[in-house]
Amino acid sequence: MKRITIYLAALVFLFSGFFLLSSPVLSARAPRKPVAGVIITGQNNHNWPVSSEALKRTLENSGLFKMDVAVSPKEGGDMSGFSVDFSRYSFVVLDYNGDSWPEEMQEAFLKFVTRGGGVIVYHAADNAFPQWNAYNHIIALGGWGGRDEHSGPYVYWKDGALVKDNAPGRGGSHGSRHAYVLNCRDSRHPVVKGLPERWKHAEDELYDRMRGPGEIKDLLYTAYSSEERGGSGREEPMVFTVKYGRGRIFHTVLGHAGATLENNPAMQCAGFQTLILRGAEWCARGRVSQKVPEDFPTETTVSMRPDYK
Ligand code: ZN
Repeated sequence: MKRITIYLAALVFLFSGFFLLSSPVLSARAPRKPVAGVIITGQNNHNWPVSSEALKRTLENSGLFKMDVAVSPKEGGDMSGFSVDFSRYSFVVLDYNGDSWPEEMQEAFLKFVTRGGGVIVYHAADNAFPQWNAYNHIIALGGWGGRDEHSGPYVYWKDGALVKDNAPGRGGSHGSRHAYVLNCRDSRHPVVKGLPERWKHAEDELYDRMRGPGEIKDLLYTAYSSEERGGSGREEPMVFTVKYGRGRIFHTVLGHAGATLENNPAMQCAGFQTLILRGAEWCARGRVSQKVPEDFPTETTVSMRPDYK
């Protein structure tokens, strides 16, 4: 009798082990929870309803991110009630160029970044807040809004190095929109690793003569701003990172918003979208797990994702 009991116990043990191992809940790898981020928008000298929706679709269609959109009051409106609970997010996308945030929100944002929060500075967000010193250190380079030699040096690429030029003059301008080639300056960085050294971006503005504190950590891409197009004649920084406290900042000047989601070439560019997705993961997590997409542009051919996926 005792021997039978031992056999039964052994059998039950083996079976339970078998079921535990074959259980799909335990054996299948649980899908990763999307990373939470927030897009701050609502005031911009650009078409922010289009840009914020294009950014949200690009990020969420990847399945990697879940985005909230924080829309500020209209320009000149009462900003006192505008706030974002940064503690809910791993990263923030700045699509805002307008009235000052309430002091409490400014402080909460700085706390978020200093403690390691991720930030994407997108296009005209680097036009914002010319008088907010900490913000200008976070973006490193800015333009317009009265920026000049008091804002910091011009920063551009010359003879294989990043140059800081204290010449007086306005900060921020651009020539006529066109498709142009981006030149990689740091192929080992996680955001650009595996991407082509040179690739053609769809029709967009090419920001030039940007200036500011200029504390660029990793310069990822530059582009040549030709004088024929009304540009500076310099190789201008287009995509770079900044470190602020423990925070990782991914700054892209690319992505001028079009008239509609359908007519929005700079943001429909597969290269732009890839950089937003990789930049988001990098600033939120400090690494990039995404593969190089097959539809990435080449040096001579632009590549479009009209549906933001
Ligand atoms: Zn623009």
